[in-house]
Amino acid sequence: MNIRRIGAATAAVALALGVSACGSDDGGGEDQLKVGIKFDQPGLGLKEGNDYTGLDVDVARYIADKLGTPEDEIEWVQAPSAQRETLLETGQVDMIVATYSITDSRKEKVGFAGPYFIAGQDLLVRSDDDSITGPDSLDGKRLCSVTGSTSAQTVKEQVPGVNLQEFGTYSECVSALVSGAVDALTTDDTILAGYAAQDQYQGQLEVVGEPFSEERYGVGIAKGDTEMCEQINEAIREMISDGSWDTAVEENLGAAGFTPGEGNPPEPEACA
Ligand code: GLU
Repeated sequence: MNIRRIGAATAAVALALGVSACGSDDGGGEDQLKVGIKFDQPGLGLKEGNDYTGLDVDVARYIADKLGTPEDEIEWVQAPSAQRETLLETGQVDMIVATYSITDSRKEKVGFAGPYFIAGQDLLVRSDDDSITGPDSLDGKRLCSVTGSTSAQTVKEQVPGVNLQEFGTYSECVSALVSGAVDALTTDDTILAGYAAQDQYQGQLEVVGEPFSEERYGVGIAKGDTEMCEQINEAIREMISDGSWDTAVEENLGAAGFTPGEGNPPEPEACA
């Protein structure tokens, strides 16, 4: 059976019947590892033609290699923030490496290995606007974030007076910020640094630089797959100890002038 050609509902049935939905061996010669990443976040997960770049992409490649999957057997799948749990629950992806914060509510639906990186929520503003200096100055402002993200959730709780608009992707928020349709964009400092450093926005956008949350990036996997979790954690530890983590962080985030904050590199949590 070719898992890639059957629908989500069928995949769920296949799971219920005990048929393996794992991309590594489903008995039909299908040996792709399906990895969910972002396609529009420079420095983290970016698709340009057939080229995939970013820290998440490099972390996924390293893990896949340790799991015995060569790079040409990885199938990259776009994983927008609001769809990540569903993609894992339906077996449409085997793992997600997509600026995916480990949270208790997500853990009710999916499993997490890691963390492999610690980021913090921040704000992106237009360089000529000095009225926004942190969450305290957001009352009445038009703020953009993404549906299904911790960023939108946190800001709703912390700043009830903000005028929040939720889009499907952060790149849509960046366009709205540049055009003046919103006053600021909120998400992880890593993501914001990547947009601010893009050639077409040179000098136009600025990260405020006062992170107000802790985002622990995990590798999303099927809930309850402890063996997979342990293998991924071991790969993350190796990536950190052999210097590949430092290289990947420098190559992907260094160009945007981003230096990892406190807690990096992190120690993966015990698998539940
Ligand atoms: N790390 C946060 C989250 O997982 C924000 C970034 C994102 O939406 O991917 O929700």
